[in-house]
Amino acid sequence: MLPRIAGFAAGLVLAAVAARVWGAAAPLAVDEVAPGVFVHQGRIEDLSRDNGGDIANIGFVVGSRCVAVIDTGSTRRIGEALLAAVRAHTELPVCYVINTHMHLDHVFGNAAFEGEPGVEFVAAARMPASLSARAEAYLRTLDHEVGEAAAGSRAVYPTTLVDDTATLELGGRRLTLRAWPTAHTDNDLTVHDEQTGTLWTGDLLFERFIPIIDGSIRGWLDVIGQLSRLPAKHMVPGHGAVDVAGGDALSREQAYLANVAETVRAAIRRGDSLRDVLDAGDGSQIADWALAERFHGRNLSAAYTELEWED
Ligand SMILES: [Zn+2]
Repeated sequence: MLPRIAGFAAGLVLAAVAARVWGAAAPLAVDEVAPGVFVHQGRIEDLSRDNGGDIANIGFVVGSRCVAVIDTGSTRRIGEALLAAVRAHTELPVCYVINTHMHLDHVFGNAAFEGEPGVEFVAAARMPASLSARAEAYLRTLDHEVGEAAAGSRAVYPTTLVDDTATLELGGRRLTLRAWPTAHTDNDLTVHDEQTGTLWTGDLLFERFIPIIDGSIRGWLDVIGQLSRLPAKHMVPGHGAVDVAGGDALSREQAYLANVAETVRAAIRRGDSLRDVLDAGDGSQIADWALAERFHGRNLSAAYTELEWED
């Protein structure tokens, strides 16, 4: 992993130089997980100067008429490197940039695609309000955690909103978009490529990287149940492996969230405070998750706040 990481960091520096000299960034590494479906795997880490914000799985789907990009990374620079990866595979225009939700590691590369003729930015109907509420704080976080490599990043909002479901035509290839009730966030959107049976879950599915609750734990558990009944051959999680069969990864995520909910409900029944829950810190359910020390306590806190008032 380390040589690739070092290579990527060097790639970003070179990309910055290349962008100034030749007007082009070095392409992001992508895997073709199914014919015409390309995914770049983000690192399973929190934002840092070392990783330049490259922490989410992002990529694109190529039709016969045009290309749909799905999530664009934490920074303009990552977006430019993703656009270079598109260009390394096809001359076709990018007609859609789809954001699976408003979290900064999925949207701040959008600016790199504004110059594509006729491009539409697509997201769930509630995404603009949620991004707008956080955008300034996100940019401060990027500046603080990523620094120079985040230069030029800014919010680019969707021009096309999905209330429920929508279909996008890429030429001989159709993507079905679906906006979900509040789960990971209040604006989660999945993208299904019918041709290959590939479902881009955004952060409704985390693999290895601990799931982060920023919406509703009850809603998320419900959505996981629905996702597990979809006939997807491939799933592209928002974090972790870029191609999973779906079932096992969903079960692991479901088990973690169900455990958080049960731990918090039992504490509330006993009259324990949130502080008691955090101090109890039984680590058994978090051993297999990366970044648990960073986010597990936050998940307990989010779940406590939500479940404290349930009937
Ligand atoms: Zn997210």
